[in-house]
Amino acid sequence: MSSLDSLIQDLVIANRILAKEEVVDAYGHVSVRHPVDPKRFLIARSLAPDLVGPEDIVELDLDGQPLTDDGPALYLERFIHAAIFQARPDVMAVVHAHAEDILPFSIASATKLRPVIHAGSFIGTEVPVWDIADRFGDTNLLVTNLEQGRDLAECLGPNSVALMRGHGFASAARSLIEVVRLSVYLPRNARALMRAKQLGGEIKYLSPGEIEARNRGYRPYSVETWRTWEYWANKAGCGHLLTRPDDGHTHTPKG
Ligand SMILES: [Zn+2]
Repeated sequence: MSSLDSLIQDLVIANRILAKEEVVDAYGHVSVRHPVDPKRFLIARSLAPDLVGPEDIVELDLDGQPLTDDGPALYLERFIHAAIFQARPDVMAVVHAHAEDILPFSIASATKLRPVIHAGSFIGTEVPVWDIADRFGDTNLLVTNLEQGRDLAECLGPNSVALMRGHGFASAARSLIEVVRLSVYLPRNARALMRAKQLGGEIKYLSPGEIEARNRGYRPYSVETWRTWEYWANKAGCGHLLTRPDDGHTHTPKG
């Protein structure tokens, strides 16, 4: 299988996992940079992530435009992905979602979303909040052009996640496996923090040293990371699509 075909399969798996883990619903999307041409990226056509198959993946340029005019309808907010890929050569995969648990942290300024659980460490020490109104005034809150996408990417800066006020989040990582993991644990971390706030008293966040220690030991295709990806893919009903890039070995579905 070519690197492009296997990446398309991984992108389908990523779509299904994010749906199964309730990070996305009918809305929200995940993309990956093209393995051969870094000036393009792959993303599904306008379709709920749980329904995405390999035939639904399209190629867009870094302005968020399709290579031909006669293609299928596209996500209105594809400019989030285009602008982040433009701004961040280190980023290979991007997620945008509306996960409900993170929304309070995009609205209330009193408590910042920061890592409080070990699996939340990948969101990093700083999670900026982007408010579309700061520069664009009254909008429908959706990122529907490249200018808005670039403003969001600027707010994201070198970080892994930006919250989008009253809307959702954008996350970015070095690989699909990492951006999915990050996006699954982001709402869980938010939920734990919210519940801890309800219990009252001082909140113990992960220290910068703890975050650094966890990230230092992380490899996208280590046995431990693969175990999660394989588990989630099977749970999402697409274990048969798994291919492990480092050895090309196809893993069989496990129920
Ligand atoms: Zn959105």
